[in-house]
Amino acid sequence: MNYLLNTKILGFCPWCGAPIIKAKTRDGRTLYEHEEKKTDCSFVLFQNAYVFGNPVRFTDAQVETLLRGESIALRLVTKAGKPFDAWVSLDPKPRTFRGKQYPRYKFNGYVR
Ligand SMILES: [Zn+2]
Repeated sequence: MNYLLNTKILGFCPWCGAPIIKAKTRDGRTLYEHEEKKTDCSFVLFQNAYVFGNPVRFTDAQVETLLRGESIALRLVTKAGKPFDAWVSLDPKPRTFRGKQYPRYKFNGYVR
C-alpha cells in the first residue's frame, strides 16, 4: 500500500486511461500511479527514473506533460560523456521485461 501525497489528478495512464496521482512507497520512493489500484494495468512512473541510461528526477509538471503524450526537454549524456538536450516522450506501448511491463521512452529529436 502506498501513501497518497496529493489527490490531484496529474493526468491519465497512457496504457489504460485511468487517472494518475502522486504517491510514496513505504521505502520512501515517490511515484506516479493509478488513483485506484488496478489489477489489469501495472503502469507506474517513479520520480527518480532512468531515461536512456541517464538518471532523471521528474518534476510534477514534466509528468503531466508526459501523461498528455507530449515531449519534455531533458539534459542527457551520450555514452561518450557528451551532454545534449533531447525531446523525450512516453511511448504509448510498455516495455516488457521478464513478464513485467515498464514505461518506455521515445527520443523525439534534439532541442535546438
Ligand atoms: Zn493504467
